[in-house]
Amino acid sequence: MAKKVIPEKTPIPEQAPALRITNFNEVALGYNDDQAVFEASRCLQCKKPVCIAGCPVGIDIPRFVDMVAQGDFKRAAEIIREKNALPAVCGRVCPQESQCELVCVMGKKYQPVAIGRLERFVADYTREQSNGTPLFTPAPKTGKSVAVVGGGPAGLTVAGELIRLGHRVTVFEALHKIGGVLVYGIPEFRLPKAILQAEVDKLAELGVEFRRSYVVGRTEMVDELLGRFHAVFIGTGAGLPYFMNVPGENLNGVYSANEFLTRLNLMRAYLFPQWETPVKVGKRVAVIGGGNTAMDAVRTAKRMGAEHAYLIYRRSRNEIPARAEEVHHAEEEGIEFRFLEAPVAVQGDAKGWVTGIELIKMQLGEPDESGRRRPVPIENSNYVLDLDTVVVAIGQGPNPLIPQTTPGLKTGKHGIIAVDPETGATSKPGVFAGGDVATGGATVILAMGAGKKAAWAIHEYLN
Ligand SMILES: Cc1cc2nc3c(=O)[nH]c(=O)nc-3n(C[C@H](O)[C@H](O)[C@H](O)COP(=O)(O)OP(=O)(O)OC[C@H]3O[C@@H](n4cnc5c(N)ncnc54)[C@H](O)[C@@H]3O)c2cc1C
Ligand code: SF4
Repeated sequence: MAKKVIPEKTPIPEQAPALRITNFNEVALGYNDDQAVFEASRCLQCKKPVCIAGCPVGIDIPRFVDMVAQGDFKRAAEIIREKNALPAVCGRVCPQESQCELVCVMGKKYQPVAIGRLERFVADYTREQSNGTPLFTPAPKTGKSVAVVGGGPAGLTVAGELIRLGHRVTVFEALHKIGGVLVYGIPEFRLPKAILQAEVDKLAELGVEFRRSYVVGRTEMVDELLGRFHAVFIGTGAGLPYFMNVPGENLNGVYSANEFLTRLNLMRAYLFPQWETPVKVGKRVAVIGGGNTAMDAVRTAKRMGAEHAYLIYRRSRNEIPARAEEVHHAEEEGIEFRFLEAPVAVQGDAKGWVTGIELIKMQLGEPDESGRRRPVPIENSNYVLDLDTVVVAIGQGPNPLIPQTTPGLKTGKHGIIAVDPETGATSKPGVFAGGDVATGGATVILAMGAGKKAAWAIHEYLN
């Protein structure tokens, strides 16, 4: 008998918008067992599962989904873990709509299988049921050691792979918390810190050593690390914010999204005075940009009590690069989108505080080199929007500290570290790199994929 098609995704329970803008708890609450089994039963188990090719790390999606449909969640988790070391993270933050779910055969006529939600369900289920069971048993010790610089998804993936292969691994992280953007950038309401901490704890249990508040290029140089370790991996990300270069940008009340999110999320400014990190968030806040960072900043501002939280983006809604789910959630939360507008100048008072922003309206012209239609200013369309806070989220590049302090390390366009994309090998023998530092700002799963390739190349190098 032909399988009955279930056209729509099983909805995921969520906190209601009016409630969630008053707290920092997670928005999506996750499937329960029955919802997961029901959703998994929608999968057609295609003979040519194109979804696998749509996943940057090649998870065997139909096989894990089939296990969920059969109620064998533990086996489903093992299948995912063959390819992905951070499924609870990826199930929450991967842009599935432009990867596996974009190509899912169900999606041709109906809604695609909710692969991301199922990945999240499996990861959460097994974390809650695992009772501290180790992820894997490491191979016998090889006597080789590797320094991993940066504790983001790229560095953590390298650390996990190499400890499994029997090498000694030390992660050096500039901040006091491990996780990179996952901890300092992505807010609690999208990715609870405890979920990431559980993954970091497991790596520590397996023997990965973590050195926090340790800035490589200041505390110790890459060349010095090369004297103590057999190889070095650089996964320092792209944490250097770009600015707009418009007049008034240095007024009080203008933040980079990086500083704004770090102070609020990592340093818990939202729990002031229990946490001693006050941050001024006004009643009228504008965030400039259209990526995930901009969306996180504007939704954070709303939760901090902004009466008007604007998102100013120079193209239209069709071109916005943030994940579709985040845009949808932001709209539900009352974020005021101003599409096709761009900043001309930030305005301030005599004491140097922001009072507004001058904007110019745009229209879309011919496509540029990115393939997206170029925004073109409309003459004499300028106006001023009254504000007390501006957050700039127009992109980030790699910090130049390590290239500047590491002789022989070649860089490319926008200061990224030049690497062989298949191995992560840099111009310097024994030094590998991957993730945002080698690509510019990208995604968690791409950083993890690069980490995996580099780990295997390091393993070969050590042997
Ligand atoms: C606010 C925000 C939201 C995002 N949302 C999403 C999303 O929803 N989905 C998605 O897929 N991607 C998202 N991204 C992108 C994604 O987070 C990154 O592509 C990914 O984290 C890159 O991983 P990484 O390990 O290369 O670098 P990072 O995560 O940046 O980690 C680098 C680490 O290196 C440390 N470091 C830097 N310099 C030094 C040094 N000299 N010595 C020691 N340590 C150092 C940093 O402190 C940091 O902890 C988002 C990015 C931002 C900023
Ligand atoms: S393409 Fe979609 S329906 Fe087909 S196997 Fe993959 S998840 Fe299932």
